[in-house]
Parts: sequence; structure tokens; C-alpha cells
Amino acid sequence: LEVLGAPIINESNVWKGVVLVFHDITELKNLEQMRKDFVANVSHELKTPITSIRGFSETLLDGAMQDDALREQFINIILKESQRLQSLIHDLLELSKLEKEEFQLNIENVYVKGMIEDIVPIVEHQADEKEVHLKQHLTEDVMIEGDSARLKQVVINLLTNAINYTPKGGDVSVTLTTHETEVEIMVTDSGVGIPEEDIPRIFERFYRVDKARSRNSGGTGLGLAIVKHIVEAHHGHIKVQSANQQGTTFRIFIPKKFTKH
Ligand code: ADP
Repeated sequence: LEVLGAPIINESNVWKGVVLVFHDITELKNLEQMRKDFVANVSHELKTPITSIRGFSETLLDGAMQDDALREQFINIILKESQRLQSLIHDLLELSKLEKEEFQLNIENVYVKGMIEDIVPIVEHQADEKEVHLKQHLTEDVMIEGDSARLKQVVINLLTNAINYTPKGGDVSVTLTTHETEVEIMVTDSGVGIPEEDIPRIFERFYRVDKARSRNSGGTGLGLAIVKHIVEAHHGHIKVQSANQQGTTFRIFIPKKFTKH
């Protein structure tokens, strides 16, 4: 709360009272705090891989290079950490584009079945590596108005998460359903699940239920924040259902017709 005060004085210079103005600046303060937290989070996320790249390079130069096994192990770590930096910067730039006031979707006719079929090969390799069975249920095709590149990003992010958070041998599926005014894309996995109390927070930037698991699988902590932005820009919505150790289902609903607001 911010308080401003001013005395009320009459013509003969006599104090009559005082005017107090109360400003509720909670929301402003919250925004400011969120901005500060975000900068701190980004700095931390960037620092971790850089520290590791620097440390392992120095150790190599200090002599570890002579040891064949160590050399290979350390170079692989450096490669993995630079890939993490690259994904992080990619996701940060994407978020910053989506959050710009003048941001506009590139609306075109999108054949949703074809769009999902284009994505499957991109994540199939990741599923094979983890021995996760990837299934598609795309019986009918439907055309909607949307930004196809960005909708692809939504489905890629959901499928990548589903595979990442599902143990070896598990199942992941993507299903397309047409409703009267909207389409539904459902991504289901048989993985670790999300505790109920965390579900409202997973769309926040850098919020992770299990930090170590997310980092190990190459997660940036920004994937779902991006998903939420894109779905909302299409005036769609998202539903999440999950049960601990029994899997998670994300359903996104996108109106068939795009309306400008
Ligand atoms: P990350 O890069 O960490 O995966 P996201 O924004 O994509 O970041 O997801 C945020 C968090 O939500 C994840 O760290 C994870 O804890 C949780 N999460 C997302 N998808 C799933 C899923 N399919 N199963 C279990 N947990 C999930």
C-alpha cells in the first residue's frame, strides 16, 4: 500500500484536516517481483551449464586430455551442456516473442491430422531411445484456422514431455477428436504423473516438479509456459489429469474458427 498525504488549510491559514490517498500497489509490486524472479531464474539456468562447460574444459587442458576414457566422457558432458544452453536460449526467445504486445499469429488453414503426422517422426527417435511405445489415433481429418508452426510446437512440447516423464517400456499416445466448434488433441502417457498440488503451477516459467529429472532429460522448464501462451493466443484451453505413478493426460482444445479479439 502506498499512502500520499496533503494538509487542508483554509484561507486564514488554519488547519482543517488532511487528505490521505491510498494506492493499492500490490499488483504492481507482484509484477515487479515476478520480473526480478524471472531474471534471477534465467541467470541461474544459464550459469549452471556454463560453469560445467568451463570446469570440464579446464580439467581437460590440465591433463585429463591424456586419458582416453576421461577425454571422451568430458567432451560428451560439454556437448550435452552446450545443447542445453541452445534449447534454453531458443525457448527464451520464443517466449519473449509470444509475450510481445504486437505479437500476432500467422493464421492459415491447418489440416490437423496431417500436422500431427508430420510431428511424429520428430519425436519417434526420442521414443525409440527410451523404448517408449508411441501410438497415434487419428481417424478423421479436420481443418481449422490456426498458426500451424506454433500448433506444431505445442504438440511437440507435449509429446516430448510425455516421453521424458515416462519410464522405459511405457506408452504414449496422441489422439485427435473433432467436436462441434473445436478440435481436441489429447496426449496421454503412462509415466510418473504430476502430484495434484503441482498441477496449477506447471505452466509457470521454470516451475518443475522434479528439477533433476527435468534437467537430465534436457528440459528447459519453459515448454509448458510456451504451450499455454500459444493455446491462449488461439482462444483455446487446456485440461490436465494426472495420477501419481499412473500417468498424465493433457488435452488441448482449439476453436475451429479463429476470432480476432
Ligand atoms: P520441462 O522442460 O522441465 O519439462 P515444462 O514446462 O515442459 O518443463 O514442464 C514443467 C514441469 O511439469 C516438468 O518439469 C515436470 O515436472 C512436469 N511435467 C510436464 N509434463 C509432464 C508429464 N507428461 N508427466 C509428468 N510430469 C510432467
